[in-house]
Amino acid sequence: MTPRLPRLVIALIGALSIACSRGPAPAPEADPGPVAAAASRDTGAVRGIAPDSVFRIAPLRPVADLRREALAASPPEEPGPFREVDLVEVRSLDPTIRYDIRYATSRNFMGAPFYTSEHAFLQRPAAEALARAHRALGERGFGILVYDAYRPWHVTKMFWDATPPGLRGFVANPADGSRHNRGAAADVTLYDLATGAPVSMPSGYDEFTVRAAADYPGGTPDERRNRALLRSALRAEGFTVLPGEWWHFDHRDWREYPILNLTFEELGDGG
Ligand SMILES: [Zn+2]
Repeated sequence: MTPRLPRLVIALIGALSIACSRGPAPAPEADPGPVAAAASRDTGAVRGIAPDSVFRIAPLRPVADLRREALAASPPEEPGPFREVDLVEVRSLDPTIRYDIRYATSRNFMGAPFYTSEHAFLQRPAAEALARAHRALGERGFGILVYDAYRPWHVTKMFWDATPPGLRGFVANPADGSRHNRGAAADVTLYDLATGAPVSMPSGYDEFTVRAAADYPGGTPDERRNRALLRSALRAEGFTVLPGEWWHFDHRDWREYPILNLTFEELGDGG
């Protein structure tokens, strides 16, 4: 996801087009929706969309049709040269890294599964860097939980084709590809080693409101501290946060890898 629109515009458009469904543990108060979340940005009030709820759009066309077309299309050609592809399963480097691969479930902004199995592949240098960040965080009582990593190009095309034109600032243009397509970006959060539970952050994952911004000043002090801890641990290992999404980190070598369209099945277990 690569937001390019101002957050307030996104939130206002979202009020017309986006439905927000609650996750397994909704906040006790009523959900006033994205506009209220935007309006609360200056106060830091934690209201609006519950951090554990799932933000949704209404896909323009049936997902099955989108998949068929996207699988028949081809990624853009880039001149290179590129490094040799070496995608590895992140958890194979450290089994205590946890997964909640949302696009392998219906708990995502499209409300449908896009992956047939739960995997998180990254190019080896990025995977090893993420594992080092995970180990460093362990000394603070936290671990890495991965929402998404390598994403085949056809899934990026499906996201684009499903998204109403007014909301396409949220999603990467398949003509350019996504850094996820290169196996060099990861969507992650922290979990508490003592409880195994994800920590609270200023927004939910893939929540397209002002609260998703990496420098959003609202949320609680604990949430901002969690976000800062995640960011500093990943920065120390060569990752840069996307300004509009606290959960999205690009590895510094992303330009060195090609846009890929390999399915998880073609990648196998990844070692
Ligand atoms: Zn991302």
